[in-house]
Amino acid sequence: MTVLRSGSASDVGRVRTVNEDFALESLTLFAVADGMGGHVGGEIAARTAVDALRAGFGRKASVEGLAGAVHDANRAVFERGQAEPALRGMGTTMIAAALVATEEGDRLALANVGDSRAYRFHGGALTQLTTDHSVAEELVARGELTVEEAAVHPHRHILTRVLGVGPDVAVDVWQVVPEDGDRFLLCSDGLTNEVPAEEITMLLSERRDPQEAAETLVHMAVEAGGNDNVTAVVVDVVVGEHPPPVSGEGGVAVIGAAPGGAGTVGAADPGGSTGPGPATAVADPTSAPVAPASEMLEAARGALRGAPAAGTGAAVVGRSGAAPGLVETPARRGDHHLGIHVPRRVTFRVLLFLVVLGGLAYAGYAVVHWYVDSSYFVALDHEKIVIYQGRRGGFVGIQPKIVKRYDIATAQIPSIDVPPLRSGVEEPSLAAARQYVSGLRDAVCAQEGPPAYCPTTSTTLPPGLTPTSTTVRGLGGPRPGVGVGAGTGVQSAAA
Ligand code: MN
Repeated sequence: MTVLRSGSASDVGRVRTVNEDFALESLTLFAVADGMGGHVGGEIAARTAVDALRAGFGRKASVEGLAGAVHDANRAVFERGQAEPALRGMGTTMIAAALVATEEGDRLALANVGDSRAYRFHGGALTQLTTDHSVAEELVARGELTVEEAAVHPHRHILTRVLGVGPDVAVDVWQVVPEDGDRFLLCSDGLTNEVPAEEITMLLSERRDPQEAAETLVHMAVEAGGNDNVTAVVVDVVVGEHPPPVSGEGGVAVIGAAPGGAGTVGAADPGGSTGPGPATAVADPTSAPVAPASEMLEAARGALRGAPAAGTGAAVVGRSGAAPGLVETPARRGDHHLGIHVPRRVTFRVLLFLVVLGGLAYAGYAVVHWYVDSSYFVALDHEKIVIYQGRRGGFVGIQPKIVKRYDIATAQIPSIDVPPLRSGVEEPSLAAARQYVSGLRDAVCAQEGPPAYCPTTSTTLPPGLTPTSTTVRGLGGPRPGVGVGAGTGVQSAAA
């Protein structure tokens, strides 16, 4: 079992007028989207993406489900951008983290497109888990640029992958074993561009409350300049998994490719050795070519944010072959366990969840019974007419029950009425069912030689016909709601 505790914060910053970042913080799904596009485009792109992500993951809460949900988010933003001219060319980054159950145990699944980041704070060290999909980072991944050079590279803000600019996008996916005391930070570039990794590390080691940590990180970025929207989501692993030991320090297990991809993703470094900086799971350089210069310029984030995007296809998307993969960071020996707190907030949330779940289950049960109990149908039982309460053939295991039996036999019923009775004639109420039976009886009694239960009303009998009986029997006489027919000339009144 894994218990998470989280906090989040977002700020428009000091320069921009609109906050195009959007954070998602729920029980098991977390995300940061950093939207871009003129006017309201960026804001809408980020929200649209997060909505689609939540819906997609809700349908399938697994590692593959998370990857699929990011693909859904891409398509949602893309289609909306295509449909509304004012939103054309909008896009958004997306870093998502989700707690999922696998056969090996609980895992934190991560999915990334763009330059919002996921970090893991473990044992006092901060490790960047994601690789930015920016020109500079792609060059680092190809070994053509050092991390230090990338940090000041003029193309460091130009994205090579963004959600919403094409019908498909390559999504990087990882699995991480959530260990006791782990802290995961999801953030937009508004944080990482303003606050050095050392300060983030220090803050995360000092502020134990995740909400306070997120708010403080955002505050630090605003204080440091606030040139961009700033968003941070902090997810603490209060109770985590105990991963099996692996041989050697810094090993990496590539455990498969995400759906829809050719399965690339190469080496990863679980961190520690290189300290802060891009260290984990980089896409195979040979399959993720850097975009041509002309496309890079179009993709320039500044242009996207400042003005309506210049046409479609801004922010170059990696080739379809640049597929996502799953990389699992292994356990390391000498774990540093932070104190385990069992926060009241999580307990309360879990309780609330169970209460709501119980309430929904009861409501569903009540609705089903109301539905079944308010349904009636007229049918045959042992070749005699009966009224059932319930649904024909049963409903979710609830079988109909006979609430009324009549003496009217199949053989006496006009043949045209028999087939519907064999399958059951539904009526909206018990009164309506009785009325239908009453009509049938009228029809039966109107025939020559009516059965014993028919009322004797000699005045209405055809001339020259002697009633076979002068008593009213069988059903015990007329009763409210049943109604005794006039005896002749009345065909089935069933409606
Ligand atoms: Mn940003």
